[in-house]
Amino acid sequence: MKESCGIFGIYSPDDEVARTIFFALFALQHRGQESSGIASTNGKKIYIHTGMGLVPQVFDERSLQSLPGHIGIGHNRYSTTGASRKENAQPVVVGNISLGHNGNIINASTLREELKQRGHDFSTSTDSEVIAALVSSSKGATLAEKIGNAMGRLKGAYSLVILTPDCLIGVRDPLGVRPLCLGKVDHGFVIASESCALDHIGASFWREVDPGEIVMINENGLNSFRPLELKREAICVFEYIYFARPDSVIGGRLLYDVRERMGRRLTHEYPVKADMVIGIPDSATVAGVGYSEESGIPLSLGLVKNRYVGRTFIEPDQRIRDLGVKLKFNPLPHLLRGKKVVVVDDSIVRGTTTPHVVSLLRQAGAKEIHLRISSPPIRYPCFFGVDMATQWELIASQKEVADICSLVGADSLGYLSLPGLIESVGLPSSDLCLACLTGEYPIPVQLPLHKLALSS
Ligand code: SF4
Repeated sequence: MKESCGIFGIYSPDDEVARTIFFALFALQHRGQESSGIASTNGKKIYIHTGMGLVPQVFDERSLQSLPGHIGIGHNRYSTTGASRKENAQPVVVGNISLGHNGNIINASTLREELKQRGHDFSTSTDSEVIAALVSSSKGATLAEKIGNAMGRLKGAYSLVILTPDCLIGVRDPLGVRPLCLGKVDHGFVIASESCALDHIGASFWREVDPGEIVMINENGLNSFRPLELKREAICVFEYIYFARPDSVIGGRLLYDVRERMGRRLTHEYPVKADMVIGIPDSATVAGVGYSEESGIPLSLGLVKNRYVGRTFIEPDQRIRDLGVKLKFNPLPHLLRGKKVVVVDDSIVRGTTTPHVVSLLRQAGAKEIHLRISSPPIRYPCFFGVDMATQWELIASQKEVADICSLVGADSLGYLSLPGLIESVGLPSSDLCLACLTGEYPIPVQLPLHKLALSS
């Protein structure tokens, strides 16, 4: 399961900001590893540098020096719409605005056709260029009005950073599906997908950008606009379960605390007698801590993760590919041999990785493996910026829990219940997007034919 993107923006009149953006993108690397980019301005012109790969693969001293100015935006991409290639790296530039986007626009193809007919010549296949072109061509006496009118046409999830030669803008869609927060630096402001990026650059967390809000930062300070009438919120619950870092705050909740509660709750929903608890690193580590603390079963680091297996351009050869997840995880036999192990993971999507992990632990000598998942079964696809799988590929849409348990080779399997999840997050279910768990989408979506067949 892959998140779509991480975005960042800074307005700091006394500084050259490219280096700060680099380090903020570094902190947001978990949200996208395919490509990265920075756009900056010195008030006259927009400069841009983008490339494929991780942040330190895309930028060096020379490229950062080619990005002058006191206002800038940055973007880490994982592609959900548009292929993974350099032309689709963001930020995109349309006219005198540059834009970085996290999310997915579900009516992008209709808008693209409409904009093409109005003469826009697209240079990428991304929905982010559709947003930028829509903003540029929307009616309005001010940029805020243009953005507000564009928001009235966009359907889906979008957190945006927008750069003009004299202004930094942050936008969050009316449902607030993807996170976006505001921070302060000495004489300016920053905008980031997650608050963890603020900590790494010495900015202080101020507040979250509200669903449906536009924040505009320029020489007059920060102004807020709320152009749309809001119906409901729908923060992606998987930000709490998996995507965002545990040191980030979303919806006023520190994610570490939320994940710890998920683990604690799992202990009560699926108790088991065991010798150790392992949280699959890194995303389920905290839920593992919660399970261990509540059950009294000691936490173990019996599975070590190679943290530097990110996206590389070197494909493993067949021999290495046959080793499966061994590139990523290494079990410690002297800890595992003869032990009954509770393994806490955050999700099972296709069910292709979990059997490898279970088998690694068995090969290392584990006697029993009890799998506990800190999310309910994922049965429906996501249309809001998360690349999960088609519905046919989602194992829980095809199989019962007992069948999944035997398929992955575990001795027992328990998923966190939906009420358990909602209670752990601590927000009303009406403020959350739970669509991939319940099939109830916060806005109407065009479901694939096989979903219709399953529902009928
Ligand atoms: S469908 Fe699932 S992954 Fe997608 S936004 Fe909603 S909760 Fe998040």
